[in-house]
Amino acid sequence: MGQDMNADVVIVGGGLAGLAAGLTAAAGGARVSVLEQGADPRYLCNSRITMGVFQIALNDMESGAAALVGAITQATRGHVDPALAERYAGEAANSIRWLRAQSIRLIRGGAAAANLGVLSPPVLRRPGLHWEGRAGDVMLRQLTGNLEQLGGALHRGVRARELVMEGGHCVGVVATRGDETLRWRGGAVVIADGGFQANPDLVRQHISKSPEKLLQRNAGTGRGDGLLMAQAIGADVTELEYFYGHVQSRDAMHNATLWPYPTMDFPVAAGMAVDAQAERFTDEGLAGVAIANAVARLDDPLGAIAIFDQAIWEASAKTYVMSANPFLIDAGGTLLRADTIAELADRTGLPGDALARTVADYNHAVEANEFSKLTPPRSLDHPHPWGSRPMPIRQPPFVAVPLCAGLTYTMGGLKVDPQARVLHTQGQPITGLFAAGGSIGGLEGGPYVGYTGGLAKALVFGRIAGASALALCKPKSH
Ligand SMILES: Cc1cc2nc3c(=O)[nH]c(=O)nc-3n(C[C@H](O)[C@H](O)[C@H](O)COP(=O)(O)OP(=O)(O)OC[C@H]3O[C@@H](n4cnc5c(N)ncnc54)[C@H](O)[C@@H]3O)c2cc1C
Repeated sequence: MGQDMNADVVIVGGGLAGLAAGLTAAAGGARVSVLEQGADPRYLCNSRITMGVFQIALNDMESGAAALVGAITQATRGHVDPALAERYAGEAANSIRWLRAQSIRLIRGGAAAANLGVLSPPVLRRPGLHWEGRAGDVMLRQLTGNLEQLGGALHRGVRARELVMEGGHCVGVVATRGDETLRWRGGAVVIADGGFQANPDLVRQHISKSPEKLLQRNAGTGRGDGLLMAQAIGADVTELEYFYGHVQSRDAMHNATLWPYPTMDFPVAAGMAVDAQAERFTDEGLAGVAIANAVARLDDPLGAIAIFDQAIWEASAKTYVMSANPFLIDAGGTLLRADTIAELADRTGLPGDALARTVADYNHAVEANEFSKLTPPRSLDHPHPWGSRPMPIRQPPFVAVPLCAGLTYTMGGLKVDPQARVLHTQGQPITGLFAAGGSIGGLEGGPYVGYTGGLAKALVFGRIAGASALALCKPKSH
């Protein structure tokens, strides 16, 4: 026997996207139910453990729509849905102002980045996860309180399982709480479940042959329920093969103080990454997010090793707030040093001749400034501020760090239009169904794995989905 509940807008997921949607709809007079699978008052989700930097393609959200469209296009090199990019950029400034009006405090700089808005109080500048009482934790508590003040409800411990369709319209959700089945009927449904990064079958299908060899650099809550529920009723999807994440020490697979920080992005981007045969396998010039994707796609994603030298360790490895130097050492991560490349090969177990040749070819390319002849070629024109210029690997001690790919969230997902309406495989919007945040695709990824912002995407499209859902159901609620 199931219980039947009613709302105007039913939202799947109580992260930033779901709460932004809920608050927007509730502020317009809709009765809102947010279904959240986590039962704990401080249920985990990516929004709670986030570093908290609000940005679009690493630009301030108040930079102006035209500049932001340019930054998105540049970061993705045009592999983005132009109509979505326009809407994303166009709503960015209003969205961040709306967030401040919700009493969410943003500071400039903090632990993260000099000129971007960061949730306050910021996360601690320390290896490992430290979210309690900071950044996303404070934001979610405030937003939940605001929602409840508007009469909205957050139902914890409720996992959405299935969408209910009537005459081609989405009219509700079937969910479970323990053994109990609950049915929510609503004028509109918003999917905001955060992505499918923590679903090994979907990750194997789309991202890596060996999901168990990827680091779950996330809250473990995005299990692709929204994607699967929506696909079951005919929804279209896009670019499921790319993810946002970082290159991390392989020790992070078993040492929790080594994730989500420090990352190894910067020393790898200034030096090189090799596979178990001591061959380069990716264009390090595309920077850390793209390198992490390439590591995940290797036959053995736990076979990659960063190779660099003392000069890189002293320069690039100190870049970024939670830098490899010194946090990798502080947290007990493996860092192998040797006076010669031959000795480094011995210490890492890499084939010595191959490593010597790969390093020599690379050094030659740096000296001759001829990167196109490398296999694979290395680009220099990456627009990403996280990119690094290649440095020679000449100054002993030479350094190796075993790597893994840290998967934070999936960049692809449900196909939506600029109103956040989920599109059917035949192209038309599915009436009553909306999606936002980590559940949607079309705004990042592509072959250059352009990163355009996790929090911003959740905030902006959460608000758009809430407004669209409100517009659809309001006639029924008044
Ligand atoms: C360590 C870390 C650092 C980050 N730092 C940044 C940063 O500085 N800047 C940035 O822009 N981005 C950052 N991100 C990414 C950003 O935090 C996320 O992209 C964003 O918070 C996603 O919000 P969301 O609401 O879409 O998903 P989430 O916050 O993950 O929320 C989804 C919610 O849906 C719930 N759910 C899932 N399935 C169901 C179901 N079937 N039924 C009911 N509930 C369900 C989950 O339990 C979860 O609570 C970071 C992420 C991590 C992990």
